Amino acid sequence: MAMKLLSVIVPCYNEVDNIFDFYDELMKTEGFFKEHDVDIEILYINDGSKDGTVEKVKELHQKDERAHLISFSRNFGKEAAIYAGLQNAKGDYVVVMDCDLQDPPALLPEMYRCIVEEGYDSVATRRVDRKGEPPIRSFFARMFYRLINKMSKTEIVDGARDYRLMTRAFVDSILSLKEYNRFSKGIFGWVGFETKWLEFENIERKKGETKWSFWKLFVYALDGIVAFSTVPLALASLMGVLFCFIAFIFIIVVIVRQVTMGDPNGTTGWASSICIILFVSGVQLFCLGIVGQYLSKTYLEVKERPMYIVKEEI
Ligand code: UDP
Ligand code: MG
Repeated sequence: MAMKLLSVIVPCYNEVDNIFDFYDELMKTEGFFKEHDVDIEILYINDGSKDGTVEKVKELHQKDERAHLISFSRNFGKEAAIYAGLQNAKGDYVVVMDCDLQDPPALLPEMYRCIVEEGYDSVATRRVDRKGEPPIRSFFARMFYRLINKMSKTEIVDGARDYRLMTRAFVDSILSLKEYNRFSKGIFGWVGFETKWLEFENIERKKGETKWSFWKLFVYALDGIVAFSTVPLALASLMGVLFCFIAFIFIIVVIVRQVTMGDPNGTTGWASSICIILFVSGVQLFCLGIVGQYLSKTYLEVKERPMYIVKEEI
C-alpha cells in the first residue's frame, strides 16, 4: 500500500513554550500512524510572534525535518494562519490544531478511524463544557451561538473548536472560498460534506496565555454574523417600514386632535416631541451602523488584499 501523508497545521502566536511540548505530545501518535502507513508533516504557522517562537521551530527543524515553518511578516490573525496552512499542506489528510495542547493529539487515531473506516469527509471536535472559563464569557458565548443560528442558514455549532481532520477533497473545497473576511466556524459548515462530531471535555491551557480578550471575542462574533447572515440588513429595512407606519398613525392622530380640540398656543407636547425625535434618530443611526458594517466588509473584500504575507519559509 502506498504511503499516505497527514499534514498537521499549527497556528502559533507567541507560543515559545509550547512548540516542543506540542511536538512531543503529537509524536505519541506517530506509532499508530506508522502502522497505518501514514507519514506526518507538521506546519508551524508563525503568525508574527514577538517571542522566540521562530527560533524554537528552527531548532525543532534541526532535530526533525518533518517540522516546517511558515512565518508571517506580522500578526495576521488565526484565520489567516489556518488558510496559509491549508494552502501549503501536501497531505492526503489535514488537521488543524492549537499549539497550546487544548486540542488533544490523543484524539487523532480515533478521528483518523472515522474518516478511513466510517467514510466521513471530516471529523470535527467540540468541547462539551466551558470549565475554567469566566461565567460571563460563557454566557455571552451561548447567547452568540443562539443568535447566529437563528440568523444564519449555515449551522454554527456551539463549542466547536477549529480542531478538525479533513480529507483532501474537503480541504480543496475550503480553499475554493477565497473571501478575505474569514470565519472558519461558518466556512467549515458552509461547504457541506459529511462531518462527524467528537466531544471532549475542556482542557485548560498549560503554558502561555490566551490571545483572546473579551473585546476581541466580541468583534469576532460581530464579524461572524456579518459574514454569515444578512438578517441585520433585513431588520434595518423592517424597522424603517415599522416607523413609517407609526408616523402615519401619529400624523392622523395629531391632525384630528388639532381640528377637533385645537391648541391655540401650540406649545404642549414639547417633552414627548423631544423624546420621539431622540428615539427615532437613535434608531436611524443604529440602522446606518448596520449598513456600515456590511459596507466596510464589502470594501475590504473589493480591495482583494492578500490574506497574509510570508516572510520566511522552511
Ligand atoms: N493564534 C494565532 N494568531 C492569533 C491568535 C492566536 O495564530 O492572532 C493561535 C494561538 O497561538 C493558538 C491558537 O491560535 O495556537 C488558539 O489561540 P488561543 O489559545 O489564544 O485561543 P483560546 O484557546 O483561548 O480560544
Ligand atoms: Mg487555547
